Amino acid sequence: MPEVGFHPAEPVTAEGPDSRTVCAVHPNIETSLRCNKCGRYMCSKCAVRTPVGYRCRECVHQQQDVFFSATQRDYVTAAAVSFVLSVPISYILPKIFLLGIILFSIPAGGLIGEAVFRAMGRRRGRYTWAIVAGGIIAGAVVASIPIIQFSLAVIDRANALDMSPATVLGGQLLMPVLYLVLCVGGAIARLRYGK
Ligand SMILES: [Zn+2]
Ligand SMILES: [Zn+2]
Repeated sequence: MPEVGFHPAEPVTAEGPDSRTVCAVHPNIETSLRCNKCGRYMCSKCAVRTPVGYRCRECVHQQQDVFFSATQRDYVTAAAVSFVLSVPISYILPKIFLLGIILFSIPAGGLIGEAVFRAMGRRRGRYTWAIVAGGIIAGAVVASIPIIQFSLAVIDRANALDMSPATVLGGQLLMPVLYLVLCVGGAIARLRYGK
């Protein structure tokens, strides 16, 4: 079966015996499906459904590399911005009442995500969400040092009062942990989807 419009120097298609077409990655799987970008034959395992039709993994990956244009420097910026913003936010937010934490933590995460996105020159990164999550958690740990010190003191007293340290510590950490889960979720939602 002669190919029209294909450069012979690029063996993007694979032909099986008696000119049946097989997957370019899995030569034992017969297929007639082709990538609508590069034209290689691909089996149902290799085909990726995109809004513009079925494409091979390589073409999808290349497309994503165009979409994700963040540099290593952008990732450093993302880590720094999320950490610096997280310290004061993580210090203040868990101190407000429970309903306030539920209401404000997700928008706070979204705000951090938005600030990072702008600081990165609006370039998207495949791993930005993970770096920002790490930055927020690191900032929250720094902001929680007084709480941790206080908790240790309370545990000492709990031992003296014959109470369970886990109960005392759980009471201390409930609000910060709830805040952190919601805030990180808000930031990830802001960075991972849509934008
Ligand atoms: Zn392709
Ligand atoms: Zn295949």
